[in-house]
Amino acid sequence: MILDDILAFNQKFVENEEYKPFETNNIPNKKMVILTCMDTRLQELLPKAMNIHNGDVKMLRNAGAIIPDPFDSIMRGILVAIYELQAEKVLIIGHRDCGMSHMDTDRFIQTMKDKGVKEETIQSLEHAGIHLHDAFLGFDDVEKAVSHSVSIVRNHPLLPSYVTVDGLVIDPNTGKLDLVTTKGE
Ligand SMILES: [Zn+2]
Repeated sequence: MILDDILAFNQKFVENEEYKPFETNNIPNKKMVILTCMDTRLQELLPKAMNIHNGDVKMLRNAGAIIPDPFDSIMRGILVAIYELQAEKVLIIGHRDCGMSHMDTDRFIQTMKDKGVKEETIQSLEHAGIHLHDAFLGFDDVEKAVSHSVSIVRNHPLLPSYVTVDGLVIDPNTGKLDLVTTKGE
């Protein structure tokens, strides 16, 4: 079982003090918070392609690097990084070939039903104001999606004026970064 493997590995990792090269504190050295996608291809590639090491940045990840709502958990994470952890720069990094681009929400909800979620459950959520089509909305254009998230952060009423917010898109194969927006644009 994969968890057993992880726990066995972990025991050796700690015993052998393999954590030593990673020792740091919780303040990001680069005073930066990054929101990117949870895509598996970015796990090691993105930090390596940006020369980011343990302790350098606060890294937030979700499906698509999307901020759907100015008071969702991602935006709260960004504000905590700024006010509690000395972050002064925010980078929103979407990527090419993202699973959230061209998201087919109808198919997605159908898959939920195929895997056992009952129609009445979906209906009762709808009645409670939780609209699955909105909750799992993807995007067509990653540059536009990044720009939209950047504008949500930049225009946030709780964002201090010294914080810069930039948007980029990364290639999940080569790690190449393209600038989407910079401060003032
Ligand atoms: Zn993605």
